[in-house]
Amino acid sequence: MKSRKPILVLLSRIRRLEQRRAELLEILLVPEPFLKASLSLVHRTCGKPNCHCARKPGHPAWVLATGSGAQRRCQVVRQADRETVHERVENYRDFRTAMRELEAIAEEEKGLLKGLMEERHEPYE
Ligand SMILES: [Zn+2]
Repeated sequence: MKSRKPILVLLSRIRRLEQRRAELLEILLVPEPFLKASLSLVHRTCGKPNCHCARKPGHPAWVLATGSGAQRRCQVVRQADRETVHERVENYRDFRTAMRELEAIAEEEKGLLKGLMEERHEPYE
């Protein structure tokens, strides 16, 4: 008869991962809108020859980039929308982070379950 200790260690790790998975799902299922995009701050010139931006630095503007490759689209964010856009891009980032963590949990659990399979195997002699 094998010792049950390794199995108990595996089980408690799996239970902790499942708790974390439940927390992550709570985050993922919050119905907040998000923007699948990235934001970057650029400095642009306005074209007026006497403006300070004709030399440097230019006027700051937030640019929202969506899509990739040929579908890539860049838009300047209106001042009035700045806060909302930032929040929604952040929601999207948080969502992706939670999804990556869920994937890592699934991977780790798979490994642990394989370990459990080995531990529980009792050869016929
Ligand atoms: Zn200017």
